[in-house]
Amino acid sequence: MNQQHVLILGLGASGLSMARWCSRQGARVTVADTRETPPQLAVLRVEWPEVEFVSGPFDDALLARNHWSLIARSPGLAPESLQAVFGWAQANGVAVVGELDLFARALQALSQRERLAYRPQVLAITGTNGKTTVTSLTTLLLQRAGLNVAVAGNIGPALLDVLGNALDHEAVAQQADDEAAAAEAAQAQAEADAQAALAAAAAVVAEAPVEEPAEDNEDNEDSEGAQATLDDAIAQADAVEAAEAAEADTTGAEADATAETADAEGPAQLVPPPVEAPQPTHLPRVWVLELSSFQLDRCAGGAWDTVPSAATVLNLSEDHLDWHGSMAAYAGAKKVVFGAQALMLLNRDDPAVMAMQPGLVTVKIGNRNRQQSARPWASFGFDAPTRAGDWGIETVNGMAWLVRALALDETRKRGRAADEAEEVYFQRLMPVEALRIRGRHNAANALAALALASSTGAALAPMLHGLREYRGEPHRVEPVAILDEVEYFDDSKGTNVGATLAAVNGLGVERRLVLILGGDGKGQDFAPLAEPLARYARAVVYIGRDAGRIREAVGAALEQAGAPQLDAATLPEAVALAAQQARPGDAVLMSPACASLDMFDNYMHRARVFVDAVQTLADEQGMSLEGGL
Ligand code: ADP
Repeated sequence: MNQQHVLILGLGASGLSMARWCSRQGARVTVADTRETPPQLAVLRVEWPEVEFVSGPFDDALLARNHWSLIARSPGLAPESLQAVFGWAQANGVAVVGELDLFARALQALSQRERLAYRPQVLAITGTNGKTTVTSLTTLLLQRAGLNVAVAGNIGPALLDVLGNALDHEAVAQQADDEAAAAEAAQAQAEADAQAALAAAAAVVAEAPVEEPAEDNEDNEDSEGAQATLDDAIAQADAVEAAEAAEADTTGAEADATAETADAEGPAQLVPPPVEAPQPTHLPRVWVLELSSFQLDRCAGGAWDTVPSAATVLNLSEDHLDWHGSMAAYAGAKKVVFGAQALMLLNRDDPAVMAMQPGLVTVKIGNRNRQQSARPWASFGFDAPTRAGDWGIETVNGMAWLVRALALDETRKRGRAADEAEEVYFQRLMPVEALRIRGRHNAANALAALALASSTGAALAPMLHGLREYRGEPHRVEPVAILDEVEYFDDSKGTNVGATLAAVNGLGVERRLVLILGGDGKGQDFAPLAEPLARYARAVVYIGRDAGRIREAVGAALEQAGAPQLDAATLPEAVALAAQQARPGDAVLMSPACASLDMFDNYMHRARVFVDAVQTLADEQGMSLEGGL
């Protein structure tokens, strides 16, 4: 990029991070935005005063300003706003890339470094819902297993910022290492000289003992048990013991399978990739990336193809259709997450995701032709898994367990055809009840995170400790307070129908719900909410611009079920109405199934208003507060 003209379109968090990255590569950067003072302009001016900023449309005049070598677009910009750019770029043979392309190109270049080539494992997570939860949880599990992990992407911070910082840190640490090595060498030389001088007197120069690195992360173990109930502790001990025993059992089989991965579909997610040349010690060993459909759009066939080592599409339901144009285009963008060779982790309960399953190829084993998957894949789901390497839930004596299926007989498995039944046994990991994150969807999230984290070869036992302690992310079915035996939940991040369905089905099995619904509906179909609302809702309070559209889709079902429906002009009013409708033992759930932008700055602002309203309610009514306010 040195001295090349690079044009960056859009100055949000991604645009800023691309501008920083390209500038540090020596490019001459221009950033364009249709707004006059986009939010990140002040930071850009301070950090990179030499970067040119242009405010105005992305039109021919902008494109004619320079001989652009590369154009980078921010993920927020919808493709139709870039038609002129795409046309110009195609005509002039200039690549239009996104943040993910730049990140992937950088990793590719680092993997080809002469000294300390960098080849980390990259786990990529997308889906309509659950991305942030699974990304955070996967990161936590890997940290618990003692790995140096970087987390970046849609969850924030931006991919290129994290990479830039990691490289800066590496440069400093590497320099310190080099200096220490040089000092050590000089000292060794001095000692050798002294030894030679004293040789006649047979003096001995003692060397400092080398310290062994600690193997397990004892800090994490310390907090264990203090607040655990006896049952939990027993379950935990059982699960960890089972996990460790099974890991010991399978080690040999895994090693065998490694040799065969080229021609047989093995549990590739259990096998760490072979370590080749020495790796840089100061850069993360694993990257966990949360990727949105916007970030993945148009990345197929580029540098990203070879980067991910394992990836998942957690689920697919209607969202962002205004940006992508159709469900097919949305799913197509999501599918790019797998690249060309990553282990594909699929959701057995989501047919749209399972449709991404790799096709079959014919391979010759001995003198027989067999059909096998074209690339490794694994799945997670609510049922008991049937393929080795898959994850699921098994109910034993009324207790549901998170389990992983392992092959009963590796030797027989290897010669097996794709359509032949496989003999598996279940490794019980943890009772679902021991999870602190609520709802069935969170059990699925836990399985997905375990599957991804295990794909790196990280030890299972410390990860299970971490999983048990994970309390979830804010604004995702987050308990706020209990007022007069009614619990209030903030699910402000429930910005689409799929998320609200998960919250309603998750909490509804435990108690009746008073729902606060509505906002900017983004053109979604709300009909899938009708049946679960009729089943679980005590009442519904509508807010926001698309309140009428939601009532049209679900109103009749609620009427039939005898659940009152009310309208509120503001969220505090909705909270007050919901409190009046709720009975002891119920929950008030704000899970709007809509974006917040018609009434609020963002979903966090909506959450704050909700929590304040619950607080006011408590103050006004002199209610006793239990819980988190
Ligand atoms: P994302 O990053 O994809 O928006 P989050 O983890 O932030 O996902 O959760 C967003 C919303 O989706 C929350 O309301 C949460 O309760 C819900 N949710 C989380 N995981 C799932 C899942 N696996 N299926 C459906 N909804 C989910």
